[in-house]
Amino acid sequence: MPDIETLLIIGSGPAGWTAAIYTARANLKPVCYVGVPKSNPAPMLPGGQLMLTTEVENYPGFPEGVSGPHMMELFQKQAERFGTRAIEEDIVKCDFSKPPFSVTTSEGRTVRAHSVIIATGATANWLGLENELRLATSGGGVSACAVCDGALPLFRKQPLAVVGGGDTALEEASYLTKFASTVFIIHRRNEFRASKTMQKRIFDAPNAEVLWNKAVHDVLGDRSIEAIELKDTVTGDISRLDVKGLFIAIGHTPTTEFLKGSGVELEPNGYVTLKTRTSATNIAGVFAAGDVADSTYRQAVTAAGMGCQAALDAERWLAASGIHSGF
Ligand code: NAP
Repeated sequence: MPDIETLLIIGSGPAGWTAAIYTARANLKPVCYVGVPKSNPAPMLPGGQLMLTTEVENYPGFPEGVSGPHMMELFQKQAERFGTRAIEEDIVKCDFSKPPFSVTTSEGRTVRAHSVIIATGATANWLGLENELRLATSGGGVSACAVCDGALPLFRKQPLAVVGGGDTALEEASYLTKFASTVFIIHRRNEFRASKTMQKRIFDAPNAEVLWNKAVHDVLGDRSIEAIELKDTVTGDISRLDVKGLFIAIGHTPTTEFLKGSGVELEPNGYVTLKTRTSATNIAGVFAAGDVADSTYRQAVTAAGMGCQAALDAERWLAASGIHSGF
């Protein structure tokens, strides 16, 4: 290993691997910290959110669809083919106060690098129910992304439920009304925080029904979801609702905890701040790509596109700084 790495990529989702493919082909010899599996509070695996996605049907180039984990395996193989070194450790701390930058791994090692691409993504928030997470990881009809999974055949013309009262929940519910027989929106209060426009769209949809003051108490079903148990948040009454799909839309949390104190500017909601249309952060030589810096689109294909941008930005910055001139 060199004393100082030219480029360090943190994260191994579509953004991280795409950045790795581009920078490895540009001979920057990237090293990619892929992370380690975690189960608390929700499952998280190297490879990111796609590792929890059974079928990806909307990534261009896969006309028959592809499983999320297989897709990430292909991304990794492609990055490694060009010389990316993948290291199965987390980065737990960063110091970007002066170049070369210094990061600490979960094994307690210190690694120095001239440039860094942050691509650690964001994780969907889950309710934290045992059966919810079991069926989400087994492809049993529980998902945190309607745009990713809602069009799958198992959900067509079926009763579905969406949990949440924000813009994401109502947007996802509205999307699902195209496929479902009925979409139930489960919200823990008696008013939405979503915009009035989104609310109107739901109130106007003939096959959307709002269940106010309800929380999901349990998810029922062995191999796939059959029903949810609801608890009335006012009376405490328990009721059963038969559904064939459950979409959790209660927000996302960007993986930026390890950046606290690093000097990288974060938005109030924790996402990395990008000041321009490039991937540049407030620190020269530190770039960000994918969901960690994007609370809007959150798609594999947009994350991959941002990974490409970050790779080109890093390459140009390294060349302009006289650190690396490519081949
Ligand atoms: P959000 O605005 O934070 O809403 C999260 C929703 O989930 C809230 O209604 C919240 O309930 C509920 N919730 C949170 N934890 C829960 C729990 N444990 N159990 C049950 N319900 C829970 O998140 P978001 O909807 O993902 O939106 C994030 C940001 O992106 C927002 O600023 C939003 O406006 C923006 N966005 C915009 C668009 C658009 O403009 N097209 C689309 C999507 C998102 P409470 O209301 O009771 O707190």
